Amino acid sequence: MGNPARRIVIVGGGISGLAATLAIQEESQRLNETFECTILEGQDRLGGKVLTHRVDDFVIEGGPDSFLTSKPWALELCEKLGLADQLINTNKANSQTFCFTKGRMRELPQGLVSFVPTRLGALFSGGLISPLGMLRMGWEWFVPRYTNLEHDESLASFFRRRLGIEAFDHFIEPLVAGIYAGDANVLSVKSTFPRFYDLEQQYGSLMKGIRAQRRDTPPPSAQPQPQRTIFTTLRGGLGDLIQALVKQLSSQGATLRTGHQVHELTTDTTSTRSTYTVVLDNHERLLADEVILATPAYVSAKLLEPLQPSVASLLSQIPYCSTATISLAFRHRDVETSIRGFGFVVPRIEGRAMLAATWTSLKWPNRANAQHSLIRCYIGGQGREQILQESDASLVAYVREQLQEMADISCDPLFSEVYRWDRAMPQYVCGHGQRLQDIRSLMCTLEGMHLTGAAFEGLGLPDCIREGTRVGSALVRAYHERRQNE
Ligand SMILES: Cc1cc2nc3c(=O)[nH]c(=O)nc-3n(C[C@H](O)[C@H](O)[C@H](O)COP(=O)(O)OP(=O)(O)OC[C@H]3O[C@@H](n4cnc5c(N)ncnc54)[C@H](O)[C@@H]3O)c2cc1C
Repeated sequence: MGNPARRIVIVGGGISGLAATLAIQEESQRLNETFECTILEGQDRLGGKVLTHRVDDFVIEGGPDSFLTSKPWALELCEKLGLADQLINTNKANSQTFCFTKGRMRELPQGLVSFVPTRLGALFSGGLISPLGMLRMGWEWFVPRYTNLEHDESLASFFRRRLGIEAFDHFIEPLVAGIYAGDANVLSVKSTFPRFYDLEQQYGSLMKGIRAQRRDTPPPSAQPQPQRTIFTTLRGGLGDLIQALVKQLSSQGATLRTGHQVHELTTDTTSTRSTYTVVLDNHERLLADEVILATPAYVSAKLLEPLQPSVASLLSQIPYCSTATISLAFRHRDVETSIRGFGFVVPRIEGRAMLAATWTSLKWPNRANAQHSLIRCYIGGQGREQILQESDASLVAYVREQLQEMADISCDPLFSEVYRWDRAMPQYVCGHGQRLQDIRSLMCTLEGMHLTGAAFEGLGLPDCIREGTRVGSALVRAYHERRQNE
């Protein structure tokens, strides 16, 4: 008689939990092991932060709207799931991005958003920075590398030290801290942008490093085809990735249950192995040989509290902030003279709750038909969450007021949609790296219990997919090795 299937419960059906489950299925097939996967998702739908809503010809993203192609894991997953022909590039025309600062909209140099800037002179000609500020930026070449390697430096300190206060406050801050909806004074540069930290350490300067890397990049013809823009997404919205994943997981035998909050975890440890009981909010109990927690850190903390209080305490120290996205649909003719490019960011120094706005239908094909325009505003974030106490109608009124002031858009939208993301963005604050190390070493004491999700090694979709995949495959490999040694 063969071994019984090993029961894995995955708590959380966001992209991390789904990617981990796919990896278990793939790795177990490869190693000829039998696993029985059950995903338990608290909400009535899978996907977590990934939420696409289609209204007539509009494709509205409530959460993420695209992913980076320089980190290959999301792209590879789409290709694996047969979605390669659904991937779309950002529109080539209109590829400018703006920054609302010093009282008006100013164009950011091409490439700055992806941190490979060209035409830095545009900073000066566009009035983003004063002549002195520009000189200070140029001085970056000569700023010595940081030698206190023990110190986990903040994003603000790193960029002010290297590029000057003016550059940081007026356009770098919204680009680097905006991704986390965070406060650059407390976010760790090593944990949020390790690339910049490494460039400084390796080359002694960001400019020298970027220049050297550009020199060493193969010419475009040598790069793999098809060419992708810096960000990509799916024609029908990112919800299609979730649907394709769900279809694949179900066809391979996974059980996917929605509307089931996991309430409690208990363990039963014998001399040879631990098993877990997963208790749902309806008191149902599921037995598991291994559990993957793909939930926000504060949820994982609560579930692990009775089993490993030290890990729970560390997890609960990972701060989160809340945001909202507000999509507004317009008749194109009403806004066409006001919108140009992909949208704009707003530095914290402007003192507004608005972080950014995307001219969605200019940035992507297929987000609205030719008669309509779609605009998405992003509000809230660390220290700017007060506004989220307001009603949906007030939030819509707020962004309309902001759009009028900043972009001269005063017409009535055809409709609007508000998506609230409460405690959605983990903040990798200074000390995050050390905290992760401590969590990892303590987790060794909980055999068969695994953690993944946006709270740890990157909150973008590619990083969540990479981490979920790593955890899922490692779990299968470890089991396989144990069996080989038995
Ligand atoms: C507004 C917004 C915009 C973003 N934009 C981008 C972008 O453009 N590009 C990009 O790459 N990234 C973006 N991100 C980040 C990215 O979307 C998220 O970091 C990622 O989707 C998180 O995936 P996850 O699976 O780790 O967590 P989640 O998606 O949060 O999934 C966790 C799941 O666990 C479930 N859960 C919680 N508690 C329980 C429980 N007790 N029992 C059962 N289930 C439970 C939740 O319901 C949820 O479905 C954005 C995030 C937000 C909020």
